[in-house]
Amino acid sequence: MALYESISFLEFQNTYNSEEKCRDKLFKMKWPDGFTCPHCGNNSYYFHSIRGLYQCQQCGYQASVTSGTIMHKTRTPLVKWFWIIYLLSNDKRGMSTLELSKKLELRYATAWSIVHKIRTAMRDRDSQYKLNGIIEIDETFIGRSSKGNSKKGRGSEKIPVVVSIATKGDSMLFAKMRVVKSVNKDEIKKILSETIPAGMTLKTDGLQVYASLSDEMDYEHDRIIISKTGKNAHELLKWVHIISGNVKAWLNGTFHGIDKKHLQLYLDEFCYRLNRRFFGNQIFDRLLKACVVAKGITYAELTG
Ligand SMILES: [Zn+2]
Repeated sequence: MALYESISFLEFQNTYNSEEKCRDKLFKMKWPDGFTCPHCGNNSYYFHSIRGLYQCQQCGYQASVTSGTIMHKTRTPLVKWFWIIYLLSNDKRGMSTLELSKKLELRYATAWSIVHKIRTAMRDRDSQYKLNGIIEIDETFIGRSSKGNSKKGRGSEKIPVVVSIATKGDSMLFAKMRVVKSVNKDEIKKILSETIPAGMTLKTDGLQVYASLSDEMDYEHDRIIISKTGKNAHELLKWVHIISGNVKAWLNGTFHGIDKKHLQLYLDEFCYRLNRRFFGNQIFDRLLKACVVAKGITYAELTG
């Protein structure tokens, strides 16, 4: 059996159209080898259909398929959760919370909270991966420029974001974006140490904050003084420029501007989908899995 289920739009519609079917799916993800009591490890259970709980036949513990997941204690039907996860995983443009709340007949605040939790699961999943290979790093600034405010100057409302992209040959592998207070050496070093293993090759422009990184940290460093090359930045750091352009277009197109406070989570959502662009119809199953294991604790972890 493949690790992840591949499911088309039509199959999704026909498969996850009842609470029972959604619950069965979560059951299979949570307990792939059959029910295991989170309390005593026993495998036999009674099912309480009214409350949707699985009661251990040995110790009486009542387990739910949503405990330890981002759906824990939700009052929103699982069918709606599944739809939101499906739509967020599949639509390259993403979908605004307002649109989702209308489509799925949810209060805006409820839809917002669900989307927020899904974005957090995306973030947690991607944070498990480090960048390997040749890594392009550059800063970009996201947000509206403050036109007509000459005192503050153009760009004063823009939020600095450090973009790192693992590349191989002419293709990009994996992207990460991090909102920073300002682009300074300490911030850059912190991001590098958290996301890039030692020994990798960094590719940056000649900006001073990137100077001497290879002396201070265990990286190879290809620092390009763009003005000396006769080429422009788009050619030298191709992928960070393409992806930075894409994320800005996505934010403007889908959200018509952004709430600064939540920019990081929007970026996490963008990177999550980007990093899984070749997974086709597996993308729903993968994201559902990320939501199920989000804050899950396995029986082994509990007792180990
Ligand atoms: Zn038990």
